[in-house]
Amino acid sequence: MRWIELADRVFASRYAELDQTLGLVVGDDRCLVVDTGTDEHHGAEWAAAVREITALPWTVVITHAHWDHFLGTAAFPGADVWAHPRCTAEIDGHARDQAESWAERYRESGRDDLADRLLAARVVRPTHEVVDHVELDLGGRSVTLVHPGRGHTDNDVLVHVSDDGVVFAGDTVEQGAPPSIGKDGYPLEWPAALDVLLDLGPRIIVPGHGEPVDPGFVRGQRAELAVVASLFDGVRSGTLSVDEAVAQSPYPAEATRPALERGRVA
Ligand SMILES: [Zn+2]
Repeated sequence: MRWIELADRVFASRYAELDQTLGLVVGDDRCLVVDTGTDEHHGAEWAAAVREITALPWTVVITHAHWDHFLGTAAFPGADVWAHPRCTAEIDGHARDQAESWAERYRESGRDDLADRLLAARVVRPTHEVVDHVELDLGGRSVTLVHPGRGHTDNDVLVHVSDDGVVFAGDTVEQGAPPSIGKDGYPLEWPAALDVLLDLGPRIIVPGHGEPVDPGFVRGQRAELAVVASLFDGVRSGTLSVDEAVAQSPYPAEATRPALERGRVA
């Protein structure tokens, strides 16, 4: 694990596993933990790292309902846990399915230790809702939680630290790999979600996976996702075959073909 100090008492924490990036914002009265990690073991390691920086009470925000962002929450006892209501619904309904399906992938690649940890993680339900946006007072500084519309999922939440121009973007932005357009993604709406992010005027954007980036990087990813959206639309309306769309995609075939296949039946 490696800390990056982004601004005064604003930190990103980088992990080798999944190239993941977690966040921490420290106020005068409490701190805000952005995502809790892949399982309770990881969550405990993350909580201990937070405690090296601050002893203040913690609040948690979950950027979206993908297992690697919320299965460490049990390591933050007593915390208020903020999330979009559809994130809570997905955690209620499918956290176990997500864990089982990824545990299977870990076992296939010989990583039984990670599979066991994943299956052992207790699922913690978020306690507070971010429907549109919510301002949290951390004492001497406030942070805004923003749902930018549908993009990477239908329950993405951005964390805007306005006094320092930092946005924690969850997986709406990805560095080091193409954005993940999973079966619960909304490629047609994703560019507009990034417009909401860019309109916040950030100086630094922290992806859920990869290194912190600048607004120019996000504008570039937005332009690529707009191409993907037009290809998805072309497949959906029958003007493009999936193979033609894959050939025109700015991302490798394996990153876009599943989404384009879904476009065909959308
Ligand atoms: Zn995700």
